[in-house]
Amino acid sequence: MAYCILNIALDTPLTSCFDYRWPCAAGEEPLVGQLALVSFGRREVVGLIVAVKHDTDVPADKLKDALGVRSQLSPLSPQWIALAAFAADYYQRPLGEVALPGLPKNLRVLTTVALDRALKKLAKSAPVHDHTPLDMPVLNGAQQEAADAIGGAQGFTPILLYGVTGSGKTEVYLQACAQVLAREEGGQILILVPEINLTPQLEGNIRARFPGVMLATLHSSLSEGERMLHWLAAHQGQARIILGTRLAILASLPHLKLIVIDEEHDPSYKQQEGLRYSARDLAVWRARQLNIPIVLGSATPSLESWHHAGSGRYRKLELRERAVKDAVLPRVKLLDMERDKPVDGITSYLTAALRQRLERGEQSLLFLNRRGYAPVICCESCGWISNCTRCTSFMVLHKPEHRLRCHHCSLELRIPRHCPTCGNVDLQPLGRGTQRVEEGLQQVFPQARILRIDADSTRLKGSAQAAFDTVHRGDVDILIGTQMVAKGHDFKKLTLVGILNPDTALFSQDYRASERLFAQLMQVAGRAGRAARTEGGSVSEVLIQTRYASHPLYSAVVSHDYDRFATDLLAERRQAALPPYLYQALLRAEAPELETAIGFLESARDALVFHGITLNDPIPMTMTRVHNVDRAQLLVESPSRPALQAFLKEWLALLRAMKSRVKWSLEVDPLDI
Ligand code: ADP
Ligand code: ZN
Ligand code: ZN
Repeated sequence: MAYCILNIALDTPLTSCFDYRWPCAAGEEPLVGQLALVSFGRREVVGLIVAVKHDTDVPADKLKDALGVRSQLSPLSPQWIALAAFAADYYQRPLGEVALPGLPKNLRVLTTVALDRALKKLAKSAPVHDHTPLDMPVLNGAQQEAADAIGGAQGFTPILLYGVTGSGKTEVYLQACAQVLAREEGGQILILVPEINLTPQLEGNIRARFPGVMLATLHSSLSEGERMLHWLAAHQGQARIILGTRLAILASLPHLKLIVIDEEHDPSYKQQEGLRYSARDLAVWRARQLNIPIVLGSATPSLESWHHAGSGRYRKLELRERAVKDAVLPRVKLLDMERDKPVDGITSYLTAALRQRLERGEQSLLFLNRRGYAPVICCESCGWISNCTRCTSFMVLHKPEHRLRCHHCSLELRIPRHCPTCGNVDLQPLGRGTQRVEEGLQQVFPQARILRIDADSTRLKGSAQAAFDTVHRGDVDILIGTQMVAKGHDFKKLTLVGILNPDTALFSQDYRASERLFAQLMQVAGRAGRAARTEGGSVSEVLIQTRYASHPLYSAVVSHDYDRFATDLLAERRQAALPPYLYQALLRAEAPELETAIGFLESARDALVFHGITLNDPIPMTMTRVHNVDRAQLLVESPSRPALQAFLKEWLALLRAMKSRVKWSLEVDPLDI
């Protein structure tokens, strides 16, 4: 019997591509990009065919036969495989560990029941024209220029759409999409948003504008069945608009013509475990590979993108004004907490501003990036504090749930009735989280409709959406929330934003902390005053409570001056030789004892000397212990990306050969160091 050799990528560590035999007549070989079922060790698994050959280094009779080929699924394109191969290579992982987890789970199971069912369902589904398209609003001059520039761009064109909050970036994306859909027959558009909670709002907009165009969504809260269906719709080219969170960057999109990354600066585009990829960076690579335009939109672009715009690598388009007629950027005011001492966390000035909004029937938002009731409880007589026994962190008081919780290892305890060391029954909460702010406000404004939105209040599936709907309907007077409420939402009745405790980030060791804080403040401030001001309505205001009112970061926020802030920060980064003027990778190690982790990193540091590469000394991570393991890190730096890549390849081969029992991982372009 004639046969061919299939080189198949499997989801396995270290090496991931293996040869199998496949009996078949000449001319009937399977195709590269098809999925195949094979036995590996004692398991049967699904892999991806990456090459079809007729000879191999191993004697062919030593090879196992593949068990089956999924011929009902059209092959993944060479471009898609190249994307996975690039990501694997760049982030230093085997191809199979990137390519296979990038596919829906239901494609990787042994049976094809789910696949067959989804294929059947899609074969029957035709786009429905169930309503006439909602009219596109008339764009203002700057918007129109941007939409035309994006919609008309040909070839690889990275565009930074720098537009203040509320400047109508969404409208620009949608009208550029309309141009591309009309021009490119069968063309597909990928739109990424940073937060799953932002998909419904945009999804609604897209459906209203483009009836008859199939939309697929890809994010982590889809069921496996839905995910399979949406992935297939994209893979087969039926879905023309694909809206998703970072994981959608690995979708199979055979007719991709435009990529939109909304809020491109957002750290959630970086995957924080496993393959630690940046969806934004992969998107730019994908656009270059396919020779198509890509739009990166933000009111506070990442310094990386700002740098590229400055050097001319990206084209910069600007929207300087709010889109809605008579809507203006809010007035930002700093409230000095040394002078106006807060009661229950809120200064008298902010309380008065809240009262005024209540009287006028307008909404307010209080932003505090700390969930729970209080970050720690303590005993005032002996000094005991609620440390987590497993982590270098505190147990957070969650009053409504009557629990102490560690946010790092999820340890949960009942709230102790008395101090575990001295027996004192008077344990005090220290500091303030969203639950405590909520409790305090209810005392001050018993009539107000107050809603808290954070990870605790939205644990149940669908509850976050329900909560946001309540706000949009206007059934909330005061919204209290963490960063969950800060991004992207278009709350029309909101005229006041209070920011409660941003100071801690000013003094972080992480050089990116100020960039992040600035973006966060601008984003949350941008929730205010998005609709036209009504007769007698309030001027929209952002009030920041701080102890460091003279800090330059705050003055830049007050003057809405991202431009100056970013330009200054870039100059500092250049001076200090920090990214984006430097390339980094971070090796992390964890072990039951810190010395073991550090010891491993020291051997790693000494394993290879390489021209142009700096290996820093290993140090414990800021949060050293999590869930009873100690963690340490070693930072690798180079002014040259190719040098860093070349070094990492050689270095990792050595590290893998060290056979240490220490668990380690590598991150390229780390965000948190
Ligand atoms: P951004 O994403 O830039 O913060 P959005 O896209 O959410 O801003 O737009 C802010 C508001 O402006 C939305 O309510 C949107 O409907 C409205 N809008 C956008 N463009 C126009 C326009 N040309 N005319 C009137 N309203 C507009
Ligand atoms: Zn005590
Ligand atoms: Zn813990």
